[in-house]
Amino acid sequence: MSAQILVIGAGPAGLAIARALREKGLDYDHVERNVGPGGVWDIDAPGTPMYESAHFISSRTVSGFSGFPMPSHFPDYPNHRQVLSYLTDFAVAHRILAPIRFNTAVTDLDRSGDEWEVTFDDASTARYASVIVCTGSQWTPNAPAVDGFTGEVRHSVTYRSSDEFVGKRVLVVGGGNSACDIACDAATSAREASISMRRGYWFIPKHVFGVPSDIVGGAGSFLPKRLERAVLQPVVRLLVGDLTKAGLQKPTHKLFETHPVMNDQLLHHLRHGDVTARVGIASASGSTVTFTDGSAADFDLILLATGYRHAVPFAQRWFGDQQHPDDLYLNAFSRRHRGLYTVGFIETNSGAYRLFDLQSHLLAGYLAERDPVKRRDFEDLIADDRAPLNNGLRFDRSPRHKGYVDSDAFVAHLVKVGAVFGWPLTSGDGR
Ligand SMILES: Cc1cc2nc3c(=O)[nH]c(=O)nc-3n(C[C@H](O)[C@H](O)[C@H](O)COP(=O)(O)OP(=O)(O)OC[C@H]3O[C@@H](n4cnc5c(N)ncnc54)[C@H](O)[C@@H]3O)c2cc1C
Repeated sequence: MSAQILVIGAGPAGLAIARALREKGLDYDHVERNVGPGGVWDIDAPGTPMYESAHFISSRTVSGFSGFPMPSHFPDYPNHRQVLSYLTDFAVAHRILAPIRFNTAVTDLDRSGDEWEVTFDDASTARYASVIVCTGSQWTPNAPAVDGFTGEVRHSVTYRSSDEFVGKRVLVVGGGNSACDIACDAATSAREASISMRRGYWFIPKHVFGVPSDIVGGAGSFLPKRLERAVLQPVVRLLVGDLTKAGLQKPTHKLFETHPVMNDQLLHHLRHGDVTARVGIASASGSTVTFTDGSAADFDLILLATGYRHAVPFAQRWFGDQQHPDDLYLNAFSRRHRGLYTVGFIETNSGAYRLFDLQSHLLAGYLAERDPVKRRDFEDLIADDRAPLNNGLRFDRSPRHKGYVDSDAFVAHLVKVGAVFGWPLTSGDGR
């Protein structure tokens, strides 16, 4: 390995930055601990959170990388195998697959003068001026304890398919998209199925009048976000109906303040009695779980779909807060450690790959810049630019929403910064 830049991880984010670096003619090394590309989308990758029923929650048309749309024969919401094949095709088409050294994990990252000293799992080391960490944020489970419960308790990171539920009384815990998907699996395979949510959420149907709802919603994105919400919130309420009749709690926050739950199947199952909606867990004893409304039921399995920590196990000391890497300009440039970058550490309310792409092109533009004045000006921005990227929305205070950005605001800001420095943020698609 001889380049000045190291990319760690070959999931969607690692592939996006590899393409951008290659387009700029920058030499880089690229390592991935798994046997192939695709990150979480490879259901056979050890430790992946992927499960058989998983589909994209953002629709095909808004989810691809720039200049490389998802194939038109894909359904509106591709399944995990299709996403993996898309990512592999992307890597092959852009000639970024061959340079990846697979089966190679980074185990430590240390500072050595102006450089980073990287240790690999074969104990070899190498030095780099720039390290780009693209190791994903859905590998380290956030799993609260369920004290007193004597049945099986596990996190959804271990869940693969509905066969695991057959003959069991299953309680799925969580209010995110995975929790809702998995509760739907339980609806059709478990002996009894429940879902426990501590609070109410907005449910957004995946289609409106047969069109993916992120395309319908996108038509209003020229409006200021709060105005868009004022229009969409009553429409969503009208389309979805009274959630409390399905046993769910009414959301106490406004639309867009939490990550959207894109699911109509769960409402179907709740309304057909295939799944029972429960409130938060108060306590457990033996196989009995008591909920905060005083109701109780017996379960064989509690599946915690309670999210992930944005951990970087081999380099946590350089990233600070494990819940979300802190002090990253545009979720990509470390403000505290020169030469340390990330792509992919971003939570947003739309398809993420477009954002990964923009982060990648901005980062590649900076790394390729030879004008010292421009570099210094950009470094001033890294230190000082704290432009709000919430588009006027007041995101929930939960750990998941720390560092959460509004996709439109994020895109607009990156495009503006890229234009100031003359760094094109779309792919020339120099395949
Ligand atoms: C069920 C589900 C549905 C989702 N739906 C959507 C959706 O609809 N739209 C969307 O935009 N996003 C969605 N996501 C989010 C998903 O996280 C992103 O699509 C994407 O996979 C994140 O890409 P990444 O490259 O940042 O991380 P990952 O996909 O996690 O890839 C990280 C890579 O880094 C490697 N790695 C980690 N540590 C090391 C190390 N120490 N050394 C070497 N390599 C390492 C890993 O093996 C992995 O290949 C979904 C996620 C899940 C689980």
